[in-house]
Amino acid sequence: MKVEKKILIIVLVIILIALVSGIIYVKRNPTIAVVCYHNIATAEEKEKFPDEKDWIITVDNFEEHLKYLKNHGYKTLTTEEFYNWKQGKIDLPYKSILITFDDGFLSNAHYAFPLLKKYNMNATVFVIGEFIDNSKETGWTGNVKTYMSKEVLEKVKEEYPNIEICSHSYGLHKDGAIEQSVEILKDDVKKFNTSIKETDVYCYPFGKFNDNMIQALKEEKIKMAFIYGPTKKEYRKASREDDNYIIPRLNTSHGMEVWKMALRLLLPF
Ligand SMILES: [Zn+2]
Repeated sequence: MKVEKKILIIVLVIILIALVSGIIYVKRNPTIAVVCYHNIATAEEKEKFPDEKDWIITVDNFEEHLKYLKNHGYKTLTTEEFYNWKQGKIDLPYKSILITFDDGFLSNAHYAFPLLKKYNMNATVFVIGEFIDNSKETGWTGNVKTYMSKEVLEKVKEEYPNIEICSHSYGLHKDGAIEQSVEILKDDVKKFNTSIKETDVYCYPFGKFNDNMIQALKEEKIKMAFIYGPTKKEYRKASREDDNYIIPRLNTSHGMEVWKMALRLLLPF
């Protein structure tokens, strides 16, 4: 046998072993993508707010994502399904995904939720309590810097049973706000639950957390909390090994070409 042929066979065998080991590893250590979006607008509207571009996905791009998920058999999870999977109580198909939105922008209710309903998909929105209470918005005007009001949120609760509303804090979405005593942080968790919605799922403002914050969540019976970055290392799929109070997500906020998103979802990490 020629030397080249031998080398080729060895290389092929190595690739095969790596592939099989990879599949075994993924089966034993399942992961699930939790994707994080923020704002959504038409391309024209997005252009008017250049400072916000990293936080806005265009409506067309978002619909492409949903179409891809639908056509490729992805299951869009509720937080309860995700939590039960994470606790090892249930298994879920590899093609499972938890879709999340941060901050509670009005654009979500105008563009994203109707699309999610159209494709019969679940998603979770982490809203900021005081932003909801301070908003007077009743309908979309093209201003991406607006948030859902109480009135809009009530309509969302009625019209979109596929959309879960969870906490992104009541009043901690500002710099340094989590540098407080456990008691004050607990009061914030309670305030969200009494004035916005009862929930046991949390997403840290700016993805930032500390020991006091985690203790406050645990004492207030919050069962899991999601982070956001801050570095590329934390933009990854969630595994059962992750701490329930430090669950990583993938960042899709700025929009992503659908082939890139498809590839990212197929990767096991
Ligand atoms: Zn936020």
